[in-house]
Amino acid sequence: IINLPKHDEEPPKLQNIRYILATTSGKGGVGKSTVSVNLAISLSKFGYKVGLLDADIYGPNIPRMMGIDGIPVALDPKNKDKILPIVKYGIKIISIGSMIPKDAAVIWRGPLINQVIKQFLNDVTWGELDFLIVDLPPGTGDAQLTLAQEAKVSGGIIVTTPQNVALDDAAKAYDFFVKLKVPVVGVIENMSYFVCPKCGYRSDIFSHGGGEAFAKKTKIPFLGEIPIDIQIREGGDEGSPVSISAPDSVVAKAFADAARSI
Ligand code: ADP
Repeated sequence: IINLPKHDEEPPKLQNIRYILATTSGKGGVGKSTVSVNLAISLSKFGYKVGLLDADIYGPNIPRMMGIDGIPVALDPKNKDKILPIVKYGIKIISIGSMIPKDAAVIWRGPLINQVIKQFLNDVTWGELDFLIVDLPPGTGDAQLTLAQEAKVSGGIIVTTPQNVALDDAAKAYDFFVKLKVPVVGVIENMSYFVCPKCGYRSDIFSHGGGEAFAKKTKIPFLGEIPIDIQIREGGDEGSPVSISAPDSVVAKAFADAARSI
């Protein structure tokens, strides 16, 4: 790895933000953004002030998932050098998706990605936050490295499905955090199993238990398992995450339990 922070170079702590938590996965499509939004909402329901930074510049899904699709960001009228986050469900949100036309592809090289991540950290009027959840893109690339160098990340959260290909990549995400000296606060197993709503039969579609085994092996906390559930998919697509649309559901409670264990 090039450009690793030097031993004596502690990244700066962002003013007014108590904890920065970064969610990551090795592999795409395992539900990392879904976990990020539902953890953010759960923490906000506990009474914390929460921000959500969508660091997935090439595939920003947070605006759709949080129901702010098509709402553009504005400059802060009190300080024109800063951007105002969009507030939804009590959470301050920033995403490149709120700054570019909906179907436009972002075709940028690494240095531009780094620039945007820096701006999202430093040039957004976050105000006082207890938690800033950073939804990282999958993998161990530019966005991850810039985040770890630009701000003191309090903890990393690894999202994985139980299947081997996802776990293989989760191990790399874990190694990345270790190498950058970011404490890993835990692993969440998503798409853990499926219970048929008609007959109650349980299928372990992507296998089961791999997330917990990974947590044991690496001696990091296991934050829980989230089943495959249609309400989760619908909530994400409709911009009303399950923690909002069905707060008493088993899955919303599983997200809340995971947030409580952080
Ligand atoms: P990632 O951020 O890892 O790419 P997403 O959070 O975008 O993954 O999830 C991918 C898709 O799977 C989304 O359509 C989301 O609604 C759906 N999804 C995620 N987790 C679940 C789940 N536990 N049950 C049902 N659908 C899910």
